[in-house]
Amino acid sequence: MDPNKISWKEEQGTRYLVFPPLGEAGLSTHAFTSRPLDLGFGREKREEVLKNRRKVCRVLGMNFLLLTAGEQVHGTKIVKVGEAERGRGALSPEGVIRHVDGFISNVPEVPLTILTADCVPIFILDPVRKAIGLVHAGWRGTLCRMTERVVLMMEEEYGSRPEDLIVALGPSIGPCCYQVGEEVASAFQKQFPEWPSFISFELASEKWTLDLWKANRVQLRKVKVRDDNIVDSRMCTSCHNDIFFSLRRDGSPTGRMMSLMML
Ligand SMILES: [Zn+2]
Repeated sequence: MDPNKISWKEEQGTRYLVFPPLGEAGLSTHAFTSRPLDLGFGREKREEVLKNRRKVCRVLGMNFLLLTAGEQVHGTKIVKVGEAERGRGALSPEGVIRHVDGFISNVPEVPLTILTADCVPIFILDPVRKAIGLVHAGWRGTLCRMTERVVLMMEEEYGSRPEDLIVALGPSIGPCCYQVGEEVASAFQKQFPEWPSFISFELASEKWTLDLWKANRVQLRKVKVRDDNIVDSRMCTSCHNDIFFSLRRDGSPTGRMMSLMML
């Protein structure tokens, strides 16, 4: 599998990114949205956000009333989503599933969503057990190994075998732009002593940089996801001003891209 296999689509004026290897099995629908559509509540008027969500869902063939969202607190809680949770957070930020940064589901027609503006969205498909996972991993989520945890939970709950999983890492802030403080750098060195290579120190700027892509890839490798089943978009949200929002670059408030995935 080509590790850089990504594809842009544009329908009815809505431009979004897909990862063809995730779609090949024909079991799931997924997308990563782009500017100018702001899909997170907070910056724009609520009606505007709902209009944008409806627009994306129409193109993807999803029911926007069923969009399911978590609070995203940079924690480690993962929730198994079924019909009972479906639609939480679709219409208002108050409705989201509390304290959640990761989802798994094996129920069809449950559109899972994650909102990001630099953090890494991770899409997981088990084409054998017919299950999906979606993860929100900023530096905190990456540090507490959210990606690894979600894979392990899919194993436990659905009997997924890591070697069957197809995983995509969506656009997020790249090592080119992601400077972090010494505390964050040393927390990573402590958590991942065996693979320190995704933290580097630039002598010229005297700054630490963090490679979230590599740090999440390392976790996938550890739980035995095959390297050639990982699609890495390697697109930096901060570098691509014209297509993505970036919290680091734009400051707060900025818009949010939405990662969507549904069986
Ligand atoms: Zn960059």
